[in-house]
Amino acid sequence: MPSPHQILQSVFGYSTFHGPQEAIVTHLVAGGDAIVLMPTGGGKSICYQIPALVRPGVGLVVSPLIALMQDQVDALKELGVAAAFLNSSLTTDEANQTERAVLTGSIKLLYVAPERLLTPRFLALLDRLDADGKLGLFAIDEAHCVSQWGHDFRAEYLQLSVLAERFPQVPRVALTATADTMTRQEIRDRLHLNGASEFVASFDRPNIRYTIAERDDEHRQLRAFLSERKGEAGIVYCLSRKKVDATAAWLVKSGFQALPYHAGMDSADRRANQLRFLRDEGVIIVATIAFGMGIDKPDVRFVVHLDLPKSIESYYQETGRAGRDGEHSDAWMLYGLSDVVQQRRMIDTGEAEEQYKRVARGKLDALLGLCETPTCRRGRLLNYFGEPQVAHYRCGNCDNCLSPPETWDASEPVRMALSAIYRTGQRYGAAYIIDILRGNANATVKVRGHEGLSVFGIGRALTDLEWRSLFRQLVALGWVEVDTEGYGTLRLTTAARPVLRGETPALLRRTADTSGAKRDKKPRVNVEGLAGSALALFERLKAWRRDTAAADNVPAYVILHDRVLREIASGRPSSLAALGRISGIGENKLRRFGERLLALVNDA
Ligand code: ADP
Ligand code: ZN
Repeated sequence: MPSPHQILQSVFGYSTFHGPQEAIVTHLVAGGDAIVLMPTGGGKSICYQIPALVRPGVGLVVSPLIALMQDQVDALKELGVAAAFLNSSLTTDEANQTERAVLTGSIKLLYVAPERLLTPRFLALLDRLDADGKLGLFAIDEAHCVSQWGHDFRAEYLQLSVLAERFPQVPRVALTATADTMTRQEIRDRLHLNGASEFVASFDRPNIRYTIAERDDEHRQLRAFLSERKGEAGIVYCLSRKKVDATAAWLVKSGFQALPYHAGMDSADRRANQLRFLRDEGVIIVATIAFGMGIDKPDVRFVVHLDLPKSIESYYQETGRAGRDGEHSDAWMLYGLSDVVQQRRMIDTGEAEEQYKRVARGKLDALLGLCETPTCRRGRLLNYFGEPQVAHYRCGNCDNCLSPPETWDASEPVRMALSAIYRTGQRYGAAYIIDILRGNANATVKVRGHEGLSVFGIGRALTDLEWRSLFRQLVALGWVEVDTEGYGTLRLTTAARPVLRGETPALLRRTADTSGAKRDKKPRVNVEGLAGSALALFERLKAWRRDTAAADNVPAYVILHDRVLREIASGRPSSLAALGRISGIGENKLRRFGERLLALVNDA
């Protein structure tokens, strides 16, 4: 039997394991149970695929994502692995055929939907395999679906504990990209994985560049961002269906290949759009957060948030859909204080219990803190997930590291702002308070007689934009709280007292320059990194891949990833051996595509 390492090289074409992969594989091959926490793109699949190939019999992969099974199985077949799936998309005949193939031992990896696995008929089939010692392992993917608190909860997942009782000697591995300790404990309890070893990978996604900017002119900012990313695939998240439709239409009008996706659409249209996003190159999908679970596309180059997500967890999960292939990608978000007010109102007016609302408010505040931090975004994110960073950690790949925001002593204007809130009776939102500070004697100000206040017009030295930034930071710092009953009314907290008394100085970040003049200093490593004949070759390789993928009826990335094509284009391998050394080209792909790829290189 080949060793895990040999399989990694010959089947998958990779030279080394990443992070805890090797330890996990060794543990499972030896028959142990495991809980695996790894970020999206961290390489979870290999952790159960290789043990399934090494161990006798078939490895069962339980996944709730029916739409994904086909692609995963296609990808394995392209690698020369005997894989199949069983779910409701198959006809009875097809399903019977697959079951027979499993019983005769000609399938090494079987993907199965939980509801199918739990049928008496299927459990009986597993009994037969087990009696012959032909059950290699159980992998439970997206294991956080056992959590009743999360929004991915699946009732059938709770019943998967039956596997522990019925097949106690078959190793089980539960995998998830959800990091928090509560979910972790729930997985352990609900799936009866009491003795399982836990493997936790770092949740850092070094290839994702984080940028969070103040919303100023949304369309102009979005166009500027996208115009540097023509032809790349990405997701643009909006909070409402209406905004999804409007944004998609606007993008199309502006010359981008954009499609909408939300729960209010006809389900056939929605599926068609999702499929185009997966199969075609360079499609932008504009979506509500309903879109995402089950998107396994590795070459999503950017995730844009036009509205604030509801927590750091959501932000991390949604941005995590970018760059699964490890290539440079962007997480780009616009936000303003009105987003905070809107999210706050959604929490306050929701049906949930007060205890839950308090947690939700706390999470929103933490996200606001991330938005307003003058320090490294990645450091802040990792800290939040319990990976403490060294002091003054700088990742070098977020907006704050690339162009560090200046801080300034804002004690004086902060005192002005706090007293303006106080003197108007803590009954108004930021926009109105800014009018007062800037001496904007509009109709409302006049009606209320606020022209006569001592704070009226004392803040003319700052622009509207600067004041808005200042108010957001006041909220982020916890000196001011937003009350949503009165439409974003601002109120002082007790923490504001020492500031108001002049005992605590207020060091704030300067308003980010959103004019676009200050661009990323670090050049983006990308397709554009290729020039001249290499670029021409890359384009030819892509055209070949498109045809091959169409012939096999699979997405392009299932044939070969962009990175592999780029390496061929720049390195111009001249022999099969040289081609085989490229990461991502295993024996089967070399056999199938090797000659053709060399011919394409030679034609150049
Ligand atoms: P996850 O399921 O954790 O999101 P995947 O299993 O889809 O991640 O892996 C993400 C990407 O990383 C895939 O393109 C995969 O082929 C690649 N990958 C995984 N492990 C390795 C490795 N050891 N070396 C190189 N690439 C790897
Ligand atoms: Zn950073």
